Order: sequence, then structure tokens, then C-alpha cells
Amino acid sequence: MPLFFQDNIANKKCSICGEIGGTDKCGFYIREKPNKYRNECKICLNRKCLLNYRKNIKNNRLKLKAYYHQNSEEIKEKQKLNRLNNPKKYRDRDVQRYKKDPKTYKERAKIHYHKNRECILLGQKKDRKENPEKYKLKNKLSNEKAKHDPKKVLNRRIHTLMYLSLKKNKGGRKWKTLVGYDLDQLSKHLKKTIPNGYDWNDFVSAKLHIDHIIPRSVFNYTKPEHADFKRCWELKNLQLLPAKENLLKGAKLAGHFQPSLLI
Ligand SMILES: [Zn+2]
Repeated sequence: MPLFFQDNIANKKCSICGEIGGTDKCGFYIREKPNKYRNECKICLNRKCLLNYRKNIKNNRLKLKAYYHQNSEEIKEKQKLNRLNNPKKYRDRDVQRYKKDPKTYKERAKIHYHKNRECILLGQKKDRKENPEKYKLKNKLSNEKAKHDPKKVLNRRIHTLMYLSLKKNKGGRKWKTLVGYDLDQLSKHLKKTIPNGYDWNDFVSAKLHIDHIIPRSVFNYTKPEHADFKRCWELKNLQLLPAKENLLKGAKLAGHFQPSLLI
């Protein structure tokens, strides 16, 4: 079959499926010389190549690998450029990949993050410096959102309470690593202590406070390593109390209590 010229592309017939080409659905690849097209439509040609590839998949994979190693720099550069030029295409592809298998996608993203952490953080820092307005807005939105997310509210409150009680000695450590329970366990426990006539929303809207049944002030600790820190913050010493009662209670102690000596 002779090669066709561009003028004829609309009437060109695929030699495999017989579809008349030139349309988006059934285009033809251009040969190296300008204005000359292949005899098979794109769809048929891709299918043919794939079948050929699969026929001898082991060998072909090795060949591809070898080709990649020889030209890896060039290929990477090309991919980078492609990504920059078609951000939407790549974004859509990532979204599709995520939807198809979120677990694998997240795992890969994690590995990628740890591998390139410093580079990513540097990029973020630069971006933050160049677009301060964008980040101001982002912070505002996320703060607004956090106000109504019970988990975030709880996390922030326990964080603040603990920070205030330890000041510098918290040393940037996460509260979870200091107490031996996590956010879920804490929220499950606190929900059991909601006073009559209240519900979890009252905690989110600050009508209920986190209260230490035995007040913080009577425990003898300045560091998380001290024995009393664990006693003060263990789950059974925490409850929810209406804000008014909590403020009235202050640091009053109901029964007898023996604080530990510092370690
Ligand atoms: Zn075809």
C-alpha cells in the first residue's frame, strides 16, 4: 500500500480495521518524513505493538530497562519538561491513580516524601516566601475548618493544656509520645465522661472543658519523665466538666492525695 499525503488523510483507510481515518478516534502516526502517514491507525498500531511486546515480554522488558539505563538522564529531563508543560494532564493522571488504588498510592507517596524530604521542604519554604498571601489564606481556611473538626479541637486542647503544664520541658515532643495513649483512645474515654444534658458538640463549642479529676496543681512534676506526670495525665484522671464548674473548682482537692517525690 502506498504512503498517503496529508491531503488524503481524511480518506485514508486503516489497513487493519478498515476505519476511514484522520479523525480523533482513528488518527494515523506520521512517519519520519513530513506529510507521510502509517498505514495502520493509531489504535490498531498501538494494539499491534502491545501484542508484539507481550509475545516476548521477558526479553523486551530487559531491552527497555537497558535502554532506560543508557538514556536515563535524557528521559528524566523529558519527563520533567512534560510535567511542567502539562500540569493538568499529570494532575488528572495522579487523581486517577489515587482513585484506582488509594492504599498503594499513599504508600508510594510516603516513600517518595521520605526519599526527597529535604528537597520538598526547601521547595515549600521557597514557595511560602514567594507567595505569602496564598499561605495566609490557606492557614485561615484550615483554622476555620479545624474549629469544627472534633478531632482537631481535641488534639489542640490537649496539646495546649500539656504545653502550659510543661512549658519548656515539653521540648517540642508530641503529647501522644508522652502519655501512652492516642487521640482515639482519649476521645473514646472522654465521651464516656460527658455530664448529663451535654453532648460531644458542647466540647467542640467549648461549653465542656477537659478537667483533671485530681487537679494538676497538686502533682509534683516539671518534666514528663517524673512519676507524677504519668499519674496526672492518665486517662482515668481526665473527664469532661462544664466550663463553669471547672473554673469554680480551680485547684481545689476533693479527697486526700499523696504526690510522688521527684525522681
Ligand atoms: Zn485501525
